[in-house]
Amino acid sequence: RAKEKGRNDFQIFNTDMKSVSINRLKLENELRKALAGNEFILFYQPQVDIETGRIVGVEALIRWNHPERGLVSPNQFIPFAEESGLIVPIGEWVLRAACKQNKAWQKEGYPMMPISVNLSMRQFFQHNLKGKIRHVLEQTGLEPQYLELEITESMTMDVDHAIQSLLELKELGVNVSIDDFGTGYSSLYYLKKFPIDKLKIDRSFVRDIMVDPNDAAIVATIIAMTHHLNLKVIAEGVETEEQLNFLHQNRCNEVQGYWFSPPVSATDLEYMLKHGMTTA
Ligand code: C2E
Ligand code: MG
Ligand code: MG
Ligand code: MG
Repeated sequence: RAKEKGRNDFQIFNTDMKSVSINRLKLENELRKALAGNEFILFYQPQVDIETGRIVGVEALIRWNHPERGLVSPNQFIPFAEESGLIVPIGEWVLRAACKQNKAWQKEGYPMMPISVNLSMRQFFQHNLKGKIRHVLEQTGLEPQYLELEITESMTMDVDHAIQSLLELKELGVNVSIDDFGTGYSSLYYLKKFPIDKLKIDRSFVRDIMVDPNDAAIVATIIAMTHHLNLKVIAEGVETEEQLNFLHQNRCNEVQGYWFSPPVSATDLEYMLKHGMTTA
């Protein structure tokens, strides 16, 4: 029902090759200025317990509040930020802002819940990941169990390095989830071997569960598997009541998607926390 707010698609890349590199330089400069000038903001999307209908977590999602273009979606600049390395300072800003916001909500008396932050490949493999995250937790006063870090399957391909990073995160006491599960390099090996807490079923599977029996079978199987492995499971991109019912029948723990809410501002999320959200 609710449409995602703040989509503002603009052409970053021109098809003309010469302007491609000029545009890249421009974008890199603009992103640096955005970071210095506080032009990034976080939106928050609720994660809902499928049994109780209550908000039990939120995912922090970055937007660029561009002075001329308005709210720019992360798909428009995160890939470039990753490529250029700017994702490291931007990601650190996200982490700090999310932890700070969650601590503020706790102080204001909202129910305690974890906040999820997307980690980029470069962040995940950066030197002294544990020290950096611990520093942010200390600065913001957020307890580690109220922070969840989302990584993607592509980050698990370098198995030894990934296990090393994950063990560091576990030592800190933060939660780790696998984002967009099923779309990348899904290996049963890492599911067995890696210290992770949760799988997030990618919305491309959820989208067609009511029309494609293969997608329905895949989603039901992923959910059953997570229960056997003692992992939690959340479905992304839930847009209809039928999808919600299917996920409920198949014992999915949590749901996230436009059926409940798109990502919203902190103020709008506070409104939802205050007034509750009735679902199933
Ligand atoms: P993601 O982490 O998989 O986040 C979920 C995306 O799906 C969000 O898009 C959200 O708005 C969208 N979504 C949620 N529910 C529905 C639904 O029911 N239907 C549909 N069609 N879409 C839904 P968003 O906010 O545009 O973010 C896109 C991607 O950008 C994220 O995918 C994530 O990979 C990346 N991203 C966002 N914020 C950050 C960040 O702070 N750091 C990093 N490294 N990446 C980020
Ligand atoms: Mg995510
Ligand atoms: Mg995802
Ligand atoms: Mg995604």
